[in-house]
Amino acid sequence: MDLDQDLVVVGGGITGLSVAVHAARLGLRTTLLEAGPLGGVSTQRSGALVRTHYADRTSAALALRGLELFEGFAERYGGPSGFVATGFAYVPTPQERDDGSLAARVAMLAEVGVETTLLDADGLRRIDPSVDVSDVGVAVHEPRSGYADPALTTATLARAAADAGARLLPRHRADALVRDGGDHVVGVRASAPDGGAWTIACGAVVLCAGTWSASLAATAEIALPLRPTAVKLAFVERRVPHHLTVIDAPNGTYLRPEGAGATLVGRRTWTDEPLESPDAPLPQVDGAFLADAAARLARRIPSATGAPVAGARAGMLDMTPDGLPYVGPVAARPGLWLCCGWSGTGFKTGPAVGEALAEAIAGRVGDPAWLGSFGLERAPLTAGVRSPH
Ligand SMILES: Cc1cc2nc3c(=O)[nH]c(=O)nc-3n(C[C@H](O)[C@H](O)[C@H](O)COP(=O)(O)OP(=O)(O)OC[C@H]3O[C@@H](n4cnc5c(N)ncnc54)[C@H](O)[C@@H]3O)c2cc1C
Repeated sequence: MDLDQDLVVVGGGITGLSVAVHAARLGLRTTLLEAGPLGGVSTQRSGALVRTHYADRTSAALALRGLELFEGFAERYGGPSGFVATGFAYVPTPQERDDGSLAARVAMLAEVGVETTLLDADGLRRIDPSVDVSDVGVAVHEPRSGYADPALTTATLARAAADAGARLLPRHRADALVRDGGDHVVGVRASAPDGGAWTIACGAVVLCAGTWSASLAATAEIALPLRPTAVKLAFVERRVPHHLTVIDAPNGTYLRPEGAGATLVGRRTWTDEPLESPDAPLPQVDGAFLADAAARLARRIPSATGAPVAGARAGMLDMTPDGLPYVGPVAARPGLWLCCGWSGTGFKTGPAVGEALAEAIAGRVGDPAWLGSFGLERAPLTAGVRSPH
């Protein structure tokens, strides 16, 4: 099969499906190639926190648009995302609390339009008596944030993309980018489940393939510094009916309610386990990790003390050197666009980045300002601005 398309999206996780639905709705002839089943790899293992507390303005603005899209998901995309607005608290480290960076961040977030308040321990207790921040004495609260369901979200986006006319091809692998003999990327070589190889000619290609984006970019001699990294999370039996979604910086965890009776607890650290390749098997979640996760949870939600662990999973992140994604056109390869390197925070922004990227590819807007700050050519930011999950 040879196709002539406006846009080929590589990857059928939340970012690729979101680009596809928005591009098709703008009238772009769009084909999405997904090597496995639709729904993604990282996406299906995501903690799926939806919050707007970020340290950089660009990410905060994108997360805020993401939150708006999750709040109106059914109207916009025609189906559920499982979004639950639990409310969210960011518990800072003592250093952030004392050096002025937390207060400055909250002021920046307010300027961006995020609804957020700095509370003392009693103020947060009045909102959620089960979360104890008396050790730090302050927390940042967001009333609208919460979490969503990755499987429901991607199923709805896939249906919406197909309804809008996008051609979704699960179990079709992109093997290489095709150039015009010069710098322009003008197509994709792909293989079908029966092994058949074919080429799709197109005006633009966007790589939404997580860490695998690096090997595809390499076929057009573009180096993407993406590092596949394993992370783990645990499910601990919940003894309160519900609680806030929390990023707990002093304890290095993030947590949220899961289903009827559990709390999901993830580790938040920059020294997670690097993998040799994105195809390497994920590590087992061992007893030491589970005991540690449960103990850290109990320090923040005391009712969890001694609660049994009900399950666990590992997942993979596509880490960049500065923890910010690569989004936008590649100047050295006209026709090639990136949407990868989400570094553990790409679920909440998935719908918003698809919307913005599709508009940019369709030429509806000039480069939105944020595309520059997520460009491949940027100077890497310092560690201080990174915001996991
Ligand atoms: C444990 C864990 C917890 C997380 N928690 C949060 C959180 O709380 N909040 C948050 O916002 N984010 C979170 N994240 C991060 C978030 O889930 C990811 O950033 C996001 O899902 C990335 O989506 P994606 O579509 O870019 O990638 P993926 O879902 O990985 O999709 C990429 C797709 O590309 C396909 N692909 C690869 N190579 C090819 C090829 N050659 N041809 C065709 N297809 C190909 C893959 O099969 C895959 O389906 C978490 C991630 C993990 C693992």
